[in-house]
Amino acid sequence: MAENLLHHRTCPICEAMCGIVVERRDGQVLSIKPDHDDVLSRGHICPKAVALKDIHEDPDRLRRPVRRRADGWEEVSWPEAYDEIERRIGEVRARHGNDAVAIYAGNPVVHNLGAMLGIGDFIRAVRTRNLYSATSVDQLPHMMTTPWASTRAILSCTTWARCSASATSSARCAPAISTRPRASTSCRT
Ligand code: SF4
Repeated sequence: MAENLLHHRTCPICEAMCGIVVERRDGQVLSIKPDHDDVLSRGHICPKAVALKDIHEDPDRLRRPVRRRADGWEEVSWPEAYDEIERRIGEVRARHGNDAVAIYAGNPVVHNLGAMLGIGDFIRAVRTRNLYSATSVDQLPHMMTTPWASTRAILSCTTWARCSASATSSARCAPAISTRPRASTSCRT
């Protein structure tokens, strides 16, 4: 009879990288629990880590590349997918310029070593100025449009007194505030 196996891993969902223990038997995930010996998270996980089992087993989860056809989706191999991506991105850039391509890098990029090593070269190779991320999608609209957030950010800035005369600070900070922050003598930037 197959025995239960314990795998000590990190949750791949966000950069907190909480330690998890995955219990498995015969290829089936039995449970996902916090790893109390993880030096960073020390037994903390959030509900998303537990839901990894549901994602893993979801019959609708994409397990192979698919290509859209007029009559639906067809599975293709990874080499086929990469060949087509390379060819079509090249065509778009040749016809409309580098900025016709946009890059989105989500959370896993910053805590996946392979992706981290490759993303810089990929961005430089594509040479587009259109870069998007979880921050640009989730947070920047709030940060740019919420007076409370922008004022609070500047109020907590201790560099205003020193750098308010510089072009850098006016470009970076002045448009975001409506209240003059307190003066300070220390600069943390
Ligand atoms: S358990 Fe939650 S907080 Fe920890 S890495 Fe996963 S998603 Fe992030």
